[in-house]
Amino acid sequence: MFDFENIVLAASVEEAVAALSANEKAIVISGGTDVLIKIREGKLAGCDLVSIHDIPELHGVRLTEDGCIHIGPTTTFAELTNSPVIMERIPVLGRAADTVGGPQIRAMGTVGGNISNGVTSADTATTLLNLEAELTLTSPAGERRVNVNDYYLGAGRVCLDHAELLTDICVKPENYQGFGGCYIKYAMRNAMDIATLGTSCLVKPGKGGVIDTLRLAFGVAAPVPMRARNTEQALTGKSYAEALEEIAGLVRGEITPRTSWRASREFRLQIAGENARRALEAAWAEAGGEV
Ligand SMILES: Cc1cc2nc3c(=O)[nH]c(=O)nc-3n(C[C@H](O)[C@H](O)[C@H](O)COP(=O)(O)OP(=O)(O)OC[C@H]3O[C@@H](n4cnc5c(N)ncnc54)[C@H](O)[C@@H]3O)c2cc1C
Repeated sequence: MFDFENIVLAASVEEAVAALSANEKAIVISGGTDVLIKIREGKLAGCDLVSIHDIPELHGVRLTEDGCIHIGPTTTFAELTNSPVIMERIPVLGRAADTVGGPQIRAMGTVGGNISNGVTSADTATTLLNLEAELTLTSPAGERRVNVNDYYLGAGRVCLDHAELLTDICVKPENYQGFGGCYIKYAMRNAMDIATLGTSCLVKPGKGGVIDTLRLAFGVAAPVPMRARNTEQALTGKSYAEALEEIAGLVRGEITPRTSWRASREFRLQIAGENARRALEAAWAEAGGEV
């Protein structure tokens, strides 16, 4: 049994935000793979819950005529990976989702929960940062849009007000068309484990084998998922060969991972450089860049 006091099973976004407004202690639950564990551990024992699990408009992946891909926040990892829209247009995101936990977690855990818990190791976060995903946040006062790169405030904190829900994750065509991508999850074992370091790369090749656009993001390299913007800038316009040569050194000079029981700072710096190089190689190949 889980120790919570009340649960509102919201049937619409309006109902959910109204229930949150009415109860300043209520907590949003989606797939529950984080929240239920915290309840079980006693950290959220006795809480009130507002479930968004069964709100139809928050679920699924949709491609609109303007080429935007809308991902409902309650879409599970397994659904993301198996979505034809994702497989065809942003397969790197589906592959990143497929590295999460085991099959049970991928069937329950949602992409909205993965970015809203504010955790640096979240496996879909880095690719969404690279895709410049636009988030819609809905409260009783209406909607506002936030770029996912501005969503994180600090470890475990995102810029959601209490009565506010993440209601849409939108990827615009200019942020996926022409790009190849690669996500590398480095974990201490192949079976279920969270990332020691996550590396996501998107690259768009330009004419003559130069880097037109590079997006590079890391998980567990800082308190929240981060873009390596200095490295991105330094390699834009360079030849692919030069970029491959320089990327590891640039990354190691930019990111600031810490030592934890999983790995030392030095180890994380080492694998970040190497995995950035490997991710660039794979992303470039997927984009069909000249070698
Ligand atoms: C055994 C196990 C293994 C795991 N392995 C991994 C792993 O390898 N990689 C990884 O990245 N994660 C892993 N996780 C973590 C977890 O599965 C993910 O973070 C998951 O995506 C959370 O989604 P959820 O729907 O279950 O979130 P919930 O537990 O329902 O919610 C998580 C947080 O987000 C908030 N929230 C959720 N949806 C919304 C919304 N739409 N609007 C506003 N707030 C919202 C909730 O209030 C809560 O604070 C693992 C968890 C377990 C238990």
